Amino acid sequence: MENNPYEIARRQVDIAGKYLDLNPGILEMLKSTKREVVVHFPVKMDDGTMKMFTGYRIVHNPARGPAKGGIRYHPDVNLDEVRALSMWMTWKTAVVNIPFGGAKGGVQCNPKTMSLKEIENLTRRFTWEIAPFIGPESDIPAPDVYTNPQVMAWLMDTYSILRGYSVPGVVTGKPIELGGSVGRLEATGKGVFITAREAAGRIGLSLEGARVVIQGAGNVGGIAARYFSRAGAKVIAISDSKGGICRARGLDIEKSLDCKDQSQCFITRELEAETIRNEDLLELECDILVPAALENQITEQNAPRLKCRIIAEGANGPTTPEADEILFDRGILVVPDILANAGGVTVSYFEWVQNLQNLLWSEEEVSDRLEKILCRAYSETEQIARREKVHMRTAAYILGVQRVAKAMELRGIYP
Ligand code: NAD
Repeated sequence: MENNPYEIARRQVDIAGKYLDLNPGILEMLKSTKREVVVHFPVKMDDGTMKMFTGYRIVHNPARGPAKGGIRYHPDVNLDEVRALSMWMTWKTAVVNIPFGGAKGGVQCNPKTMSLKEIENLTRRFTWEIAPFIGPESDIPAPDVYTNPQVMAWLMDTYSILRGYSVPGVVTGKPIELGGSVGRLEATGKGVFITAREAAGRIGLSLEGARVVIQGAGNVGGIAARYFSRAGAKVIAISDSKGGICRARGLDIEKSLDCKDQSQCFITRELEAETIRNEDLLELECDILVPAALENQITEQNAPRLKCRIIAEGANGPTTPEADEILFDRGILVVPDILANAGGVTVSYFEWVQNLQNLLWSEEEVSDRLEKILCRAYSETEQIARREKVHMRTAAYILGVQRVAKAMELRGIYP
C-alpha cells in the first residue's frame, strides 16, 4: 500500500532511535503493537436485514499507564491504519507526559449512510465485542473521526450494563451529563490553536490578521477555526470531505459552521465565498495551514508547492516523512500531530481523573492545566529540536520515545 501509515509510523520510530541510545530489543518492541483485537459482528439494520461489520481495538504500548485512544467510524478503517494510530497515541501521551499508553480502535463503516439507530446498534454490539479488553484501568476509548459524545454515551452505557454498575471512567469524551469534562469537546481544536500560537510567537508572526487555512471542519478543524478567528486571525479557507470554501478577506467562521450544521454543507452564496477543491486548498498562500482531516495529505508531491509558514497538524499523520524533509528544507515550521493535537487526550486525562475521584473541575481549572501542559511540551520539544538540529517532529519523537523506552526498561521483561 502506498504511504501505509503503519510503515510510516515504524519509520518515524527508527528516525528518532538514531538519536537515542536504545537497547535494540526495546526498539523492536516499540515498533510493534502489543495486542490486536479484530472482531466481525452483526448489526440489525432498519430494513430488518442483518449486516456484518469489522472492528478493531489495538493497544500499542501500556508501559506508562492504561492505554488510551479514540474510536474511528470510517469506510477506510483498516488494520494498519489502526496500528499506526495506536502507536501515535503512545508517543502523544508521552510527549505531554500524562500517565497513559497508546491505543486506537475503529469500525469499517460509513456512518453517513446509516441511521442514528443503526449507529447505536453498531456501537453497542462493537462495545460488547471489545468489552473484555477495555476498562478504566486497562484501555480507555474516546471519540475520533465520525464518532462523538453520543457514541461515547452508548459505549459507556453498554459497558456499564455488562458490569452491573455505572463505569464512567471506561471512556472519555462523554456528554457532560454523564461525567464528561467541561472543555473536552473543544480541547483538541483549542490545543491546535495553543501550539500554533506558540509556533507563531517563535517566528515573530502576529495572529492578528494572520491568514489561516483549515482542511476539515469537524471537532478538530471547526473548533480550531473558531479559536483562530476569535484571536483576530483571518480564516481564509475551510473544507469538509466534499470540498472547501475560500474568501480572501476572511470567512465568517460562526456563520460558516452554522451553515454546515444546518445544511450539511457550505453554501457559497450565503457565505460570500468561492468553492475550492481540498487539494488546492492545501496550496493556498497563507501563514498557518491546519490539516485536520485524514492521513497522508501532505506528501512529496505537494510539499514543494505549499505556501504557508507554519503547519499545525490537527489530524493524525497528515504529513509523510518525505514531505517532512522537504518542508524542513523550505523553512516551514511543522508542529507535529503528537504535539499539536494532544490537547484532546490531555483533557481526556482530566476527565478520567475526575471520574475516578468523583470530582468536577471548573472550566478555568481545565483550561489553565491544558495551557500549562501544552506550553511545557512545546518548549521541551523545541529545546530538543535546537539541541539535535532536527525538525519538531523528530524532536517530539525523541521526547516521546525516550520516555516510553525508559518506562519499559524500568519495568523489565517478564519473566
Ligand atoms: P470529525 O469526524 O469531527 O471531522 C472530520 C472532518 O474531516 C469533517 O469535517 C469531514 O467532512 C472532514 N473530512 C473527511 N474526509 C475528508 C477529506 N478527504 N478531505 C477533507 N476533509 C475531510 O473528526 P475529528 O475528530 O475532527 O478528527 C479529525 C482528525 O483529527 C483525525 O485525523 C483525527 O484522528 C484527529 N484527532 C482527533 C481528535 C479528537 O479529539 N476528536 C484528537 C486528536 C486527533
